Amino acid sequence: MFRPILSWFGLILLAISFVCFLLVTPPLQPVAKSRPIARGNEAAPVIVLDPGHGGQDSGAMCGAVLEKDLTLDVARRAEMLLRAAGYTTRLTRDSDRYLSLAQRAEVANHEKNSLFVSIHFNDGERAAASGVETYFAARQNATSPGIFGWFSFLQPRESKPLFAQSESLARFLQAALVERTQALNRGIKSERFYVIAQVRHPSALVEGGFITNPADVAKLTTTGYRQQIASAICDGICRYREASLPNEPTLAWAAPAE
Ligand SMILES: [Zn+2]
Repeated sequence: MFRPILSWFGLILLAISFVCFLLVTPPLQPVAKSRPIARGNEAAPVIVLDPGHGGQDSGAMCGAVLEKDLTLDVARRAEMLLRAAGYTTRLTRDSDRYLSLAQRAEVANHEKNSLFVSIHFNDGERAAASGVETYFAARQNATSPGIFGWFSFLQPRESKPLFAQSESLARFLQAALVERTQALNRGIKSERFYVIAQVRHPSALVEGGFITNPADVAKLTTTGYRQQIASAICDGICRYREASLPNEPTLAWAAPAE
């Protein structure tokens, strides 16, 4: 009497298990022959470009040449190049408006996976100071504030500490800046600038030349030179991403030496 009932019960359980298996198992995907850096790659970070200053904060200036205008122009150019390379991008500001440093960092922190590049031009005490340099923060706030920070152990661990990722990003950006602009290489530097230190993703700050240097500012006022800086930012990000993809059999770019 019980045996047929048990058999039917077992059969129904088997059918339910099979349906559940079909529902939770993802369909088989063909193996990709090549892995694009950005397009179609779910792991690709959102690139957040931060044009320094804005609104009542003009930044460095030389006559009518204002740092806030140069940074916005370069950021827009870099954004176009990065989009063409397949990246999703955000600008912390896309007009002449003031943003606090915390608001800028928050644009990057709002994204689950992002990469932050703040764009600036230098203000030297000496008119002779010239060249390009890139900063990273040796100590960044890696955990989310509030209750989410308590569960930081649940967040996926990167093989490299965050500051090392930022240092690597700075190194690739600096190498590309020197390569594109042929400007004096002032190297990468560790500085706890608030805007990059508050970002919980790889972040760097580029200084694309001295507004206080007559030769630098003469170049910066040409669209061609600003396009070179934008191209360098795009190159640096693409090479950093390519070098940091795991298990990549052929790396086209090794980390540049300082
Ligand atoms: Zn600045």
